[in-house]
Amino acid sequence: GKGKKLAKAATKAVNQHAVLGAGIMGGGIAYQGAVKGVHTVMKDIAQPALDLGLSEASKILSKGMARGKVDAKKMASTLNNIVPTLDMNAIKDADLVIEAVVENPKVKASVLKETEQTVAKDAIICSNTSTISINSLAQSLEHPERFCGMHFFNPVHKMPLVEIIRGEKTSESTIASVVAATLKMGKAPIVVNDCPGFLVNRVLFPYFAGFSKLLLDGADFTAVDKVMEKVFGWPMGPAYLLDVVGMDTADHAAGVMSDGIPERMQKIENDPVTLLYSNQRLGQKNGKGFYNYW
Ligand code: NAD
Repeated sequence: GKGKKLAKAATKAVNQHAVLGAGIMGGGIAYQGAVKGVHTVMKDIAQPALDLGLSEASKILSKGMARGKVDAKKMASTLNNIVPTLDMNAIKDADLVIEAVVENPKVKASVLKETEQTVAKDAIICSNTSTISINSLAQSLEHPERFCGMHFFNPVHKMPLVEIIRGEKTSESTIASVVAATLKMGKAPIVVNDCPGFLVNRVLFPYFAGFSKLLLDGADFTAVDKVMEKVFGWPMGPAYLLDVVGMDTADHAAGVMSDGIPERMQKIENDPVTLLYSNQRLGQKNGKGFYNYW
């Protein structure tokens, strides 16, 4: 079915990226294209954000140099491929725009609309949203067939997976082109339909929910982490992983999923994750979550 159609769909060559938002994700996505030789315009609304995005890229490259994996030439060419800008007009020649601005549906809708008015008619537009419905974001565009989700994971340069989310109106050639662009970035694409949580968070959040219920039944979180990590063999346990994800993000995503698919993801009363969040224990990002980091 879809696979055959995808194989036949015309693929648009992507030579220039534009990344909107130079935050944790935007900075990483810009780096990942640039290191694979793609000219990348990185746009934000604030100069400090652009500076931070660029310094993240050079930090990753410096680490690579220290380990002998990157030479001076690679470092220079990668940094040269990233063009930071505050000017929306600078994205006008991009073939692939990846929107990675704040997780706010109104902001995203207006950024997407402005993007469509700026780029060429055949440019592809993607959103890196984790929780907002791709079909709802598509409504802000005149040509939703050229739009889909392109969901990277944090940290972008280390995580191989990219979820490509097919909206109801996304064309097969858009999907085929984004799959090709993902491969060119050295990442592993999977194509999924639009639903709350897409694939990874659909699997991950019920696991977090199971963990929360276990805590409500009296389990000790350090004991659970120890079992999942040291004995079951996962790289980290659920409490530590929640500290990495961030309690704000986790609480928000769980809410989106239990609102969107209540029959699959029930709301948990007195969820410890919500409690930590309301006590400003956000996880590693502010130095305290399940664990303390100072
Ligand atoms: P962030 O807060 O680090 O960065 C957001 C950036 O967007 C900021 O630099 C901000 O200045 C900029 N911005 C705001 N409005 C803008 C506009 N109109 N035009 C251009 N830039 C604008 O956020 P983040 O963690 O990088 O998340 C960005 C997106 O990626 C969100 O949609 C989020 O859901 C998604 N995401 C995040 C993660 C994660 O682990 N952090 C993982 C996958 C996906």
